[in-house]
Amino acid sequence: MDFLLRFNKARPFQEDMIKDIYNALKEKKSILINAPTGIGKTDAALASSLRFALENNLRVLFLTPKKSQHNIVVEALNGINEKYNLDIKFVDLISKKELCTNPEANSLESDIFYKACEELIKHKKCIYFNNIKDIDLDKFSKYTSLGHNNFFDVAFKNGLCAYELATNLAKKADVIIADYGHIINTYIMGLFSKRVALDVGSTIAIWDEAHNINEIANEYMKRTLSTNMIKKAKSELLEIKNNIDLSYLEFMLNELSEKKLENKKEALVYNNDIPDTLKENLDEIIEELERAATEYIINKKAKRSYLFHIAKFLSNVLIEDESIIKVITKDRESIKLSIISLYPKDVIDKIKEFYSNVFMSGTLLPLEMYRDLFGIKDAIIKSYSSPFPKENRIVFIDDSATTKFEKRSIEQYKKIAERIDLIKERINGNVAVFFPSFDVEENVFRYIKHSPIIRQKRDMNSKEVEKIISDLYKENNALFLGVMGGLLSEGIDYKNNIIKGLIIVGIPLSTPNIEIEAKINYYEKLFGAGYDYAYIIPAIVKTIQAAGRAIRKEDDKAFIILLDERYEWKKYKQLISQFLDVKDKIAFSSFLNNETSNLTKQT
Ligand code: SF4
Repeated sequence: MDFLLRFNKARPFQEDMIKDIYNALKEKKSILINAPTGIGKTDAALASSLRFALENNLRVLFLTPKKSQHNIVVEALNGINEKYNLDIKFVDLISKKELCTNPEANSLESDIFYKACEELIKHKKCIYFNNIKDIDLDKFSKYTSLGHNNFFDVAFKNGLCAYELATNLAKKADVIIADYGHIINTYIMGLFSKRVALDVGSTIAIWDEAHNINEIANEYMKRTLSTNMIKKAKSELLEIKNNIDLSYLEFMLNELSEKKLENKKEALVYNNDIPDTLKENLDEIIEELERAATEYIINKKAKRSYLFHIAKFLSNVLIEDESIIKVITKDRESIKLSIISLYPKDVIDKIKEFYSNVFMSGTLLPLEMYRDLFGIKDAIIKSYSSPFPKENRIVFIDDSATTKFEKRSIEQYKKIAERIDLIKERINGNVAVFFPSFDVEENVFRYIKHSPIIRQKRDMNSKEVEKIISDLYKENNALFLGVMGGLLSEGIDYKNNIIKGLIIVGIPLSTPNIEIEAKINYYEKLFGAGYDYAYIIPAIVKTIQAAGRAIRKEDDKAFIILLDERYEWKKYKQLISQFLDVKDKIAFSSFLNNETSNLTKQT
């Protein structure tokens, strides 16, 4: 059998990637791949994995962190079927809530939704579910190639539950496209595996954007209880005339705050700090709260319930593991107790059960670190060069300013703004500027003279962010300001070389706090590299992700300027140079003096 590549010719390095994956699968090993934009990762991973899966009676599970990334996999699979005249069956799955066609249920908040759906099914009250029983499933299999949005419309028009329909079809599919959430939330994974008859031992899992896995898994596991939440839960109880008493939880938070915080902002809490009365009656309390939450949702037609959130928090509060900490914090409005995962051990254990894993990303360096983080010691590691011409991406370091915390001042902000203005003058076209935080962005913004400016503001929702992106496409001489690690700097393709210059201001290091400190210590113990793995490298990955936004196609051209004195420090420079070819200082001063042949003029 051939490798199943939908195009006639492989791109540079794509063939290497296809063969490397195939060889790893032959050895039943996982593989980690650092593949810059332009190699065609999705096609390469499918070309080899599909061939191997078909030859060996395995299935392929293609996982992405965002549902918007499913389309490219759907297109690739349709292309393969067409080119090779095959009938590879695949299903594109998003979350159950997003595939829920029942308008009464799909508007509920996530945690509540699952409970509500269960109840509706149990009492035969979901008509969309009931209708599934009488249909001829095969009649709908042709619609799976349309992708999740169109499939949802087909199910809705036919009065059917899109989730039931899709998961029933997925039982026989060769390939399932799904979200990280289907696997890295261990509760969902249990349900999902059953629904789609997933035998992990005979499944090849392909992880796109794999640098995100651990952080997304940690985020899923985070739970919080706050005095504000308890107040809201009490109002819910009042509304349904239920006399469960939650005062002891408020009392517990106040006690913990007094005992642990004193003058500190945050402190660790241990299981022996949790009152015995709560520990002894925990299961009953959780059951009682869940019952009350369900009653509140049904009787009051509510979309969310704080009672439910509290029950979820309590279900996790006594988990005792080195990889999990509890932190108490207090601000003007509320006292909060948070359960925080430092390392998603259970998820990593599940991932190891797959036949093989293909982890790929454009920022999976250092590969050895990710191999440690994914806990697969014998995994193969591979890195490929960018297939794009080097001369199209000119990278400079500007060490004239810094956002280093101790040096932050009005003077620094003014200096950064001046440099942004100067760099913008040297570049024809739009220039994007990504900051380490909204604080820095707001402080620098007020001193920038250039106009027009399109700006991402704190608390913008995704619609507002989409709007500023569409505004960017109407401009050809704008500054476009955003923050790193967010919607504008990761997982987005700026098309038509709309960005001709990109300035990365500062290094997006996490604000030091108890969580970071605990993570550093825990990673030091696990991997002997706490500071690098938990603090430095994640920040550099964000920088590289942001820097990668400018050049998305072979003939895109752009300047990238890393604006912070620390990028000249040995440690940061070494890490950065694994991804970017940085020009020397002489070249940068020629650029500032307008002596460099203007790259954008060549475009
Ligand atoms: S059975 Fe399907 S349509 Fe009905 S509530 Fe559950 S997910 Fe929604």
